[in-house]
Amino acid sequence: MTDCKSSSCSTVRLREPHQVLRDIYGTLLETYGQRNWWPAETPFEVVLGAILTQGTAWRSVERSIANLQGAGLLTVEGIRSVPEEHLRELIRPSGFIVRKAGCIRAFVHLLDEHHGGSLQQVARQPTDVLRRQLLALSGVGPETADAILLYALGHPVFVVDEYFRRVATRHELVDSNARYAEMQRLGDLAIASETAEETAQHANELHALIVEVGKHHCGPAPRCEGCPLQPYLPAR
Ligand code: SF4
Repeated sequence: MTDCKSSSCSTVRLREPHQVLRDIYGTLLETYGQRNWWPAETPFEVVLGAILTQGTAWRSVERSIANLQGAGLLTVEGIRSVPEEHLRELIRPSGFIVRKAGCIRAFVHLLDEHHGGSLQQVARQPTDVLRRQLLALSGVGPETADAILLYALGHPVFVVDEYFRRVATRHELVDSNARYAEMQRLGDLAIASETAEETAQHANELHALIVEVGKHHCGPAPRCEGCPLQPYLPAR
């Protein structure tokens, strides 16, 4: 077997997209090392971050989280007790404060109504049940639901975001109009492992590494020169 990685290489052209993605994962791991995401202290902070980051730069999320921490409200109990108006003010740096405050409260309501107010209890539910419950919350789409499932609750699901969409479409691993479920299927196949724990670990790392290459190279306009994934670009 040759070590050619380019999709212009006949070896790679015969490979399935998820196999190419697995190779991409290896290259990113060699380049950037383990990322050990998510950048948060507790699972509940992950939930808050996943909601607050919608349509917003992470810097703004950090300011909102710092506000909540400063007010002593970075807990389920804190969110339960804070008046909605005050919550909106604290998360103002992240924008969309009405929708996001409502979404945070809805998540805590879901915990209280169905899972005894406990994140540990909610984490023990089957993935598909939890995913349906999360998607039923106003303001929670597939990316947010999956980020909560993976990073806060440890479920083995792959998170599709804009960075992944760019990498997957620019490398022709999916069609340019592929929907969320199709891109997630690609990621799921690439990370499939013996145990759910291992799969979750790979889902965590691959997503974090894709974000890394996205920040350094694969923005709205790709900067392929010097990108570690340049060898995987389709032949032109
Ligand atoms: S910047 Fe270019 S080489 Fe790098 S991931 Fe994006 S499309 Fe691929």
